[in-house]
Amino acid sequence: MNSDSSDDGVSRQEKPVLPLSNREHHHLVLGPPMHRKPAVMQEPVLVLNATFEPINVTAVRRAMVLLLKGVAQAEELNHHEVHSTSRVMKVPSVIRLLAYRHIPQQTRALSRKNILLRDRNTCQFCGGIFPTSELTLDHVVPRSRGGRSSWENLVACCYQCNNRKGDRTPEEAGIKLARRPRPFTLYTSRQLMRLIGHRDEKWRKYLFY
Ligand SMILES: [Zn+2]
Repeated sequence: MNSDSSDDGVSRQEKPVLPLSNREHHHLVLGPPMHRKPAVMQEPVLVLNATFEPINVTAVRRAMVLLLKGVAQAEELNHHEVHSTSRVMKVPSVIRLLAYRHIPQQTRALSRKNILLRDRNTCQFCGGIFPTSELTLDHVVPRSRGGRSSWENLVACCYQCNNRKGDRTPEEAGIKLARRPRPFTLYTSRQLMRLIGHRDEKWRKYLFY
């Protein structure tokens, strides 16, 4: 059908909202340039596996490339259209890959940005939601006690809680961790998909996983 079996619906260049994989390089031929509104092209599109399982969120621009290549089909449309010199295309809201893609138990890079994303900018001790600039990372088990810099031991933390906790465990400091930190998995990604999809009723029926 299509030679592009390595395509996972994610492009590094496009910076999708929820990248699942970094492993692709595409040199795409898109045909004649489209006359398009950039804002529309950046809107999020839910990507489903062939089995209708939600696997990613990408941008309209990227989703349309997948449609044009015949790798995916549109399951839901939004109300926009884009025009090229030769045709008019309806803009998708949800697309589905035509070939089943095995999604490995992916892990994302351990970074401040991804930990704040996982914890949704919420201090894991007081539950407050803060701008990124007002959050730090806390080692639940302090480094001085052998605590590692890992997904399971790093959490988003406001400066006040960070000061209060100091170089102690939560038990010693008498504060409680909101929830056990986990690696950024497909489960986490799905929680974020639900958050994003809340705005778009066309997404909802696909987000029961
Ligand atoms: Zn706090």
